[in-house]
Amino acid sequence: MRTGTRVVGGGGEGRLEWLEVEVRDADVVHRERVEAGGLCLLIGADPACDWVPAAVTRDEKNYLQTGRDVPQDRWRDGRPPASLETAVPGVFVAGDIRSGSMKRVAAAAGEGATVVALVHEHLARLRADEFAADARGASA
Ligand SMILES: Cc1cc2nc3c(=O)[nH]c(=O)nc-3n(C[C@H](O)[C@H](O)[C@H](O)COP(=O)(O)OP(=O)(O)OC[C@H]3O[C@@H](n4cnc5c(N)ncnc54)[C@H](O)[C@@H]3O)c2cc1C
Repeated sequence: MRTGTRVVGGGGEGRLEWLEVEVRDADVVHRERVEAGGLCLLIGADPACDWVPAAVTRDEKNYLQTGRDVPQDRWRDGRPPASLETAVPGVFVAGDIRSGSMKRVAAAAGEGATVVALVHEHLARLRADEFAADARGASA
């Protein structure tokens, strides 16, 4: 583990063989060449969800919140949204864009499959509510 170090160059014969690193130690900066058979870039990620309406709440890094992560003042009747459901009933989120997600392919695919079932459940509940309202209207 090298702290205060930036990769500033690299090279080799036909493949990567060395890296040039810039090392900062207090106010002193020097460069050195180190052997390297490979380089893994971990560049991070930013959620691209500016287009999602503000009614869907976000965490401090702009990932979309679901379930108990939704701020309590947005819960309905004192209860949090369902797992993978946002602050807007019927709007679900799966995968990397979800606050607290695992950021792994298998997890994103699993959440996607789960959301399909949750959407079916949500629509069935809406239909049942409409049916009950119609029945009440007919008997009134
Ligand atoms: C460099 C790197 C290495 C990784 N290595 C691994 C690994 O080894 N193993 C592992 O399990 N996971 C790895 N991951 C994480 C994995 O890629 C993610 O967890 C996974 O792809 C998340 O799937 P997703 O469907 O949620 O999001 P994404 O795969 O990011 O898919 C989102 C899609 O939505 C599209 N999109 C964005 N905005 C819009 C819009 N407005 N309209 C329409 N489409 C839009 C994007 O173009 C993208 O295609 C890695 C990620 C990175 C960046």
